[in-house]
Amino acid sequence: MLEQILEELKPYGARLVAVSKTKPDEAILDLYNRGHRIFGENKVQELVGKYERLPKDIEWHMIGRLQTNKVKYIVPFVSMIHSIDSLKLLREIDKRAGRVETLKPTGVDCLLQYHICTEETKHGMNEQESEELLKAIKETPLQRVRICGVMGMATFTDDMDLVRQEFRNLKKQFDYLKENHFAGQEHFREISMGMSGDYKVALEEGSTIVRIGTLLFGARQYS
Ligand SMILES: *Cc1c(COP(=O)(O)O)cnc(C)c1O
Repeated sequence: MLEQILEELKPYGARLVAVSKTKPDEAILDLYNRGHRIFGENKVQELVGKYERLPKDIEWHMIGRLQTNKVKYIVPFVSMIHSIDSLKLLREIDKRAGRVETLKPTGVDCLLQYHICTEETKHGMNEQESEELLKAIKETPLQRVRICGVMGMATFTDDMDLVRQEFRNLKKQFDYLKENHFAGQEHFREISMGMSGDYKVALEEGSTIVRIGTLLFGARQYS
């Protein structure tokens, strides 16, 4: 399945985050041994444990809700945080990143998460909240955080017209931000959207990063 998905991503130039949450180290190593390096987790404790035990050239992406008091555990090694939904969180990442001398000069790469679906349970900002956040960081810029794009989750449904519309809205928001807040900033280029059930639609609507778990690792069991 890995090879097939990578083939599908190629024409779009999109990247794959293999979402390994709840899955054992062996499942990750299986994909690692087939050459894959980008993995995503949604819980800090699980992410840190896997980082410590697994090969150090894995690129770890944090894709789940992040509490400010846990930021410090992942900042030293995380490649990208997809789930920025508040100024407070960004400021904490910036502060913690300032204390880690081994980070690359541009600091921690982050994506702004938007609420694009009909379900209330999924997180993310609306346009007004993100405007306020961007205004605040214009006034007091971040030193060790780089905002690289946007992330969103579509409604969990078979209605692909609805899903497509939601992805289209996220792409529109990305285009707006690119023009009005990040003009000329090369690194602002990522649209993280698409999961096992909807990544093909996401690619058609402009995704640059898909986050796929179930298709790669099988269904998850929560106890
Ligand atoms: C679990 C998860 C995924 C992957 O979902 P699948 O349907 O298993 O592919 C993608 N993104 C986020 C934010 C997730 O929490």
